[in-house]
Amino acid sequence: MTPFDPALFCRQFPALKQAEIYLDSAATALKPQAVIDATQQFYSADAATVHRSQHRAAQDLTTRFEQARQWVATLINAPQADDIVWARGTTEAINLVAQSYARPRLQPGDQILVSEAEHHANLIPWLMVAEQTGAQVVKLPLGSDRLPDLTLLSSLLNEKTRILALGQMSNVTGGCPDLAHAIELAHAAGAVVMIDGAQGIVHCPADVQRLNIDFYAFSGHKLYGPTGIGVLYGKTALLAEMSPWQGGGKMLTQASFSGFTPQQPPHCFEAGTPNIAGVLGLAAALEWMSTQDMAAAEQYSRNLAHSAEQRLALLPGFRSFRCSGSSLLAFDIAGVHHSDIVTLLAEQGIALRAGQHCAQPLMAALGVNGTLRASFAPYNQPEEVDVFVKALENAIALLAE
Ligand code: PMP
Repeated sequence: MTPFDPALFCRQFPALKQAEIYLDSAATALKPQAVIDATQQFYSADAATVHRSQHRAAQDLTTRFEQARQWVATLINAPQADDIVWARGTTEAINLVAQSYARPRLQPGDQILVSEAEHHANLIPWLMVAEQTGAQVVKLPLGSDRLPDLTLLSSLLNEKTRILALGQMSNVTGGCPDLAHAIELAHAAGAVVMIDGAQGIVHCPADVQRLNIDFYAFSGHKLYGPTGIGVLYGKTALLAEMSPWQGGGKMLTQASFSGFTPQQPPHCFEAGTPNIAGVLGLAAALEWMSTQDMAAAEQYSRNLAHSAEQRLALLPGFRSFRCSGSSLLAFDIAGVHHSDIVTLLAEQGIALRAGQHCAQPLMAALGVNGTLRASFAPYNQPEEVDVFVKALENAIALLAE
C-alpha cells in the first residue's frame, strides 16, 4: 500500500490541473487516472457487450463485469458477490427497494420510519410507495446534536413499522448516527432497514454483516468512480423473495405471451444492457483505493475541514452545521444570502455548493433556507484552505459594501 502523501495523491487526479479549487467532493468526487484509464480502455479496446454475445471478447468482458461485484462485496463485506445489484446510483437503488421489496408488501396503515436528516433520495421513494399502498411515512426527528434522535426510536417503532430508512452519513452535516443501535432496535420491532450509504461509503464503508444491514445503497461517482453506476446490496434471502421492478432483456430465463420466468438475483434486477464502462470504472476505483492508505487520507481531509472551520469561526456571523469529525463543512453567514456568497466564491475560482442540498426537511429542521457547503477530499491542499478563507472574507466584504 502506498503511504498517504497529499502531493503524490493529488497528482493522480488530472481534473485538478484546471485552475479551480475543488471543494465539492460531497457532490461528486474527482476521478483518479486509474478510473479514467479503465473506462477509456473499455471504449477504445473492448468490442463487446456483456451477458449476450458468444464471441471471445464478450465472454472475457462478462467475466470482468461479474468480477467487479466481488470488489464491491469485499468493500462492504457482503457474504457473496451475487448480493450486489448494479443500479444507476443510490437513487435508483433505493427506488428499487421501494418498488420491488416494499410495494408488494405494504398494507394501508403500515408505517415507514424515515429520518429527518435524509437526502431526498431516501425520502421521496418512500413517499411515493406510501401513496401507492396506503402506507404512512413517519418522521424520525433530528436531535439537538443535528443527528437523527435515536432515543425516539423505541417510541416510534411499533408493530406497524415495516421499514426504517436511515442515512449512514448526512450530506449536509456529515453526521453519522449509530447504525448498529438503530438497526438492532428496528429489527427487534420487526422492521427491515434501508441504509443510504451515498456519503458514508466514502468515509467508512459499512460492514453489512457486522451491522446486520438489510439493504445498503451507494453511488460510484462519490467514491472516485464513474457517474451512472451505483450499488444495491441486499441480504440474499431478501433479494430472493423480491420480484423484479423493471422488465426487459436478460432479466429472465423464458418469455412468451403468457408470461416470463425471472432469473435469479442479481440478474433479475438488471434488465437491459448495463453500464459496462461504469462497472469497470467502479472496479478500477476500488482496486486503486486498495493500493492507497485511505484511512490516513480520510483523517487528512477531516483535518482540512476542521482547520477551515476554526479559521472561519473568526468571521462575524459565521455559523457551522458541521458534526464534529466530518470532512464536510456546511455553514452560513448571518445576514448574507448563501447564493450571493457562492457566486462571489465562484468568481474567485472556488468551487463549492450552496442551497438546500436535496435535503429540504433537514433545512427546515435546522431553521435555514439553505447553507453553503465546502467538502474536503484527500486531494485538497492546506494552501487551498488559506485561499478559500481569504476568498470568503473578500466575498463578505463586497456584500457588506
Ligand atoms: N444520499 C445522499 C446522502 C447523497 O449525498 C446523495 C447524492 N447527493 C444521494 C443520496 C443520491 O445519490 P445519486 O444522486 O448519486 O443517486
